[in-house]
Amino acid sequence: MAGLEVLISGAGIAGPATAFFLAKAGAKVTVVERAPEPRTGGQNVDVRGHGLTIIRRMGLEETVRSKTTHEKGLRFVDARDIARAEFPIDDGQGFTSDIEIMRGDLGLILYEATRDKVQYMFGENVKATSERSEKVEVEFENGSPTRSFDVVIAADGWSSTTRRVAFDSNKTHDSLKDLGQWAAWFRIPHQQSDSDWARWYNAPGKRMILLRPDNARITRASLWVMPSDDQMDKVAKQDVQEQKAYWSELFHDAGWEAKRVVEGMQQAGDFYMQKIAQVSLPRFSSGRTVLVGDAGYCPSPITGMGTTAALVGAYILAGELVQRPKEIGEAFRVYEDRMKPFVKTAQKLAPGAPSMANPQTQWGIQILHCFLGFIAWSGILKWMGPSFNPPATGIELPEYTFA
Ligand SMILES: Cc1cc2nc3c(=O)[nH]c(=O)nc-3n(C[C@H](O)[C@H](O)[C@H](O)COP(=O)(O)OP(=O)(O)OC[C@H]3O[C@@H](n4cnc5c(N)ncnc54)[C@H](O)[C@@H]3O)c2cc1C
Repeated sequence: MAGLEVLISGAGIAGPATAFFLAKAGAKVTVVERAPEPRTGGQNVDVRGHGLTIIRRMGLEETVRSKTTHEKGLRFVDARDIARAEFPIDDGQGFTSDIEIMRGDLGLILYEATRDKVQYMFGENVKATSERSEKVEVEFENGSPTRSFDVVIAADGWSSTTRRVAFDSNKTHDSLKDLGQWAAWFRIPHQQSDSDWARWYNAPGKRMILLRPDNARITRASLWVMPSDDQMDKVAKQDVQEQKAYWSELFHDAGWEAKRVVEGMQQAGDFYMQKIAQVSLPRFSSGRTVLVGDAGYCPSPITGMGTTAALVGAYILAGELVQRPKEIGEAFRVYEDRMKPFVKTAQKLAPGAPSMANPQTQWGIQILHCFLGFIAWSGILKWMGPSFNPPATGIELPEYTFA
């Protein structure tokens, strides 16, 4: 393993986590990140089951636990802010998991844990790759000199451009399963009605507002919509001010605390919007390029499994490469075989999701509240099992030695 030169594209969660294990085993790791610095945006992400085991194996459990949000659970509220259904944090099977951490905090913990052993290149991205004599030659977009690597790992999220560059672009386009929903995430100032509970508010027109606490008394807001046309694809290509204007127009009349949320969005410096989609590919590798995390098997934020899948993928990919540094193709094959059952579980959606949770009419919202009220009262969420909220099972986590 020592001396293996690895390029990882993307310094989100999967990228630094893979870098952590590979660098520990002696690989020479470079991480290239398109953003000018580590990205701190986003809301709470869940670390469940095997994800937590991997955090433990990294020796980072205490650091991660010190940053959790202490969210008490999720309330579905109506326009008068009355809770119509309440799901407290329980054994990790509910909406709120045992480890709820801000995406940015987890990203920073992983970055801090790797920055001494890994070379980070911010503000850069992969332009082209070509394979020759057991090396991958990589050209960069923003002027960094061309370099050769033994392995390229694409960890650049669900819309991975490295995947497009290294895989057949027509086929990878087909790999996106559009779930028909868009979301925008941003911070807003905390106010008295924000407690340690997350609040989920449905408005007619398949609109939803989610407010969640963080660990710094700043409220994390997200807007969700299921548009009936493809206007959002165009909006996503516009600049942030135009994107905010579009979302304001969509939500200004949504009722409840929408006015305050829309106003807060205008001031937010961390606004980020994304199509809700899953990535489903027959292969996770092509030649010496391999996919990890959302780039290979994004389950989408509505499963709550993206971060756990990224951590599990990072660990298994690094573990297989460490075991077979001279048989890259075989290492990729075993990684894929081990990951596929896990990915299948992680990508399972709740029945009818996301449509059922985002009704078109006020009448539909009332039915949803009755349904959720019954589920909360009866406690059957736990019995609905993997399809409602997938536990992090599906595979045995192998034991690898990296030192
Ligand atoms: C800003 C942001 C906010 C998010 N907020 C939430 C949230 O609130 N809730 C939730 O469930 N999930 C959220 N996610 C997704 C969540 O982080 C992932 O599902 C999960 O953690 C898996 O992580 P990943 O590392 O595979 O992908 P990501 O976390 O998406 O990381 C991918 C990284 O690659 C970088 N990148 C993209 N393209 C390139 C390129 N061409 N070259 C180099 N680098 C590139 C991105 O800037 C990013 O840092 C968010 C992602 C981002 C980027």
